[in-house]
Amino acid sequence: MFENKNVLNFIANAEKEIDQILRQHDATALFNQNKVLSAMQHNRLAERHFASSTGYGYNDDGRELTEKVFAEIFGAEKALVRPSIVSGTHAISLVLYGVLRPGDNFMAITGRPYDTIYSNIGTDGKYNGLGTLQDFGIGYKEVDLKEDNSVDYEKIKELMDDNTKLIYIQRSTGYSLRDALTVEKIGEICSFIRTLDDDVIIFTDNCYGEFIEEKEPCEVGVDIIAGSLIKNPGGGLAQTGGYICGKEKYIDMIASRLTAPSIAYEVGATLGVTRSYLQGVFIAPSVVNNAIKGAILTSYLFEKLGFEVFPKFNSSRSDIIQAIVFKEKEKVISYCRTIQAASPVDSYVTPEPWDMPGYDDPVIMAAGNFIQGSSIELSADSPMRPPFVVYQQGGLTYEHVKIALYNAISELNLLK
Ligand SMILES: *Cc1c(COP(=O)(O)O)cnc(C)c1O
Repeated sequence: MFENKNVLNFIANAEKEIDQILRQHDATALFNQNKVLSAMQHNRLAERHFASSTGYGYNDDGRELTEKVFAEIFGAEKALVRPSIVSGTHAISLVLYGVLRPGDNFMAITGRPYDTIYSNIGTDGKYNGLGTLQDFGIGYKEVDLKEDNSVDYEKIKELMDDNTKLIYIQRSTGYSLRDALTVEKIGEICSFIRTLDDDVIIFTDNCYGEFIEEKEPCEVGVDIIAGSLIKNPGGGLAQTGGYICGKEKYIDMIASRLTAPSIAYEVGATLGVTRSYLQGVFIAPSVVNNAIKGAILTSYLFEKLGFEVFPKFNSSRSDIIQAIVFKEKEKVISYCRTIQAASPVDSYVTPEPWDMPGYDDPVIMAAGNFIQGSSIELSADSPMRPPFVVYQQGGLTYEHVKIALYNAISELNLLK
């Protein structure tokens, strides 16, 4: 380990050069740590809330308290935080199915949504007949971001009509080479939308954005947010689950869709997850800070090595994703393999691109994680399509990301 002194020095020098930037997020982490701590104190979290429930899960105080804590942290009226929400895709789909009705349409205004969401809309015809939104008579419009990555306000104004019930914003870049939307920018979008329509529901896919900034989207005018607990807000401890937060009237509809209108929030056994949800969200601000530091270091090192990177080391960040443009398929595969080899779990396996459910192109995923598919843990993935970009994210500890980068740079002989 660390035999390649050139690479070791390269990384150590880089760290010195960007020391200020690496520390830039510490104040945000402190602010968010205090926000989470206060929410727990304010809601009088106690040992008894960690108790597990079975069966219907009636009177599960821990589940109810967890949802109050999440609502407070995310500046929302109400929250659903459940192991029965199986992923981010499920959480986001629940929102759409929960609040949209036949004859309604909705409009994505940050370009095409994330691959696994897009196919549920029905416009690609892949799952029609199985209950896509289109099967229920729900229409869809899409407004691309402009060349400079700004939101196309003129086009939104042109396409909005009386049946437009929901505006869909994706905060994170997903598999695209744009900067994530800052919460401030999301606030500007909300103000603009409100000049056109007082009632349209503004939804934000908040995946990968949690705890990056001091504010969250519901604090700047967004009505509903959703995300995955095996990303930022689970802090690496939540073993499965998703969350949805927002205005009470909408969360009521979504809870009714998750279970049934007659039982809505009142059921849902927690099967022992509550302690890890609360402990996970408690450490999440600090874990997210580690992941951001890892992403900044990755960005700086690869830029120095001559690669195109998004975002740059000194750009403002609103998600934990770091994209590196490799341009060649083989290089993408090799890089992902070095990340896998530097993982704590399954370090000896060789990842291959495969047809993952819900994705259009084969995807290679390096994720040697304690929790399957967890991407708050260090992970790197890439859809097999030009320009062959690796999307790397996570890192429970900054030191782990550094070790993985050392391995990749030395094994792939990137430092000429
Ligand atoms: C991860 C992600 C999703 C989907 O979440 P899964 O938990 O993988 O289903 C949706 N949108 C964005 C922007 C994401 O990063």
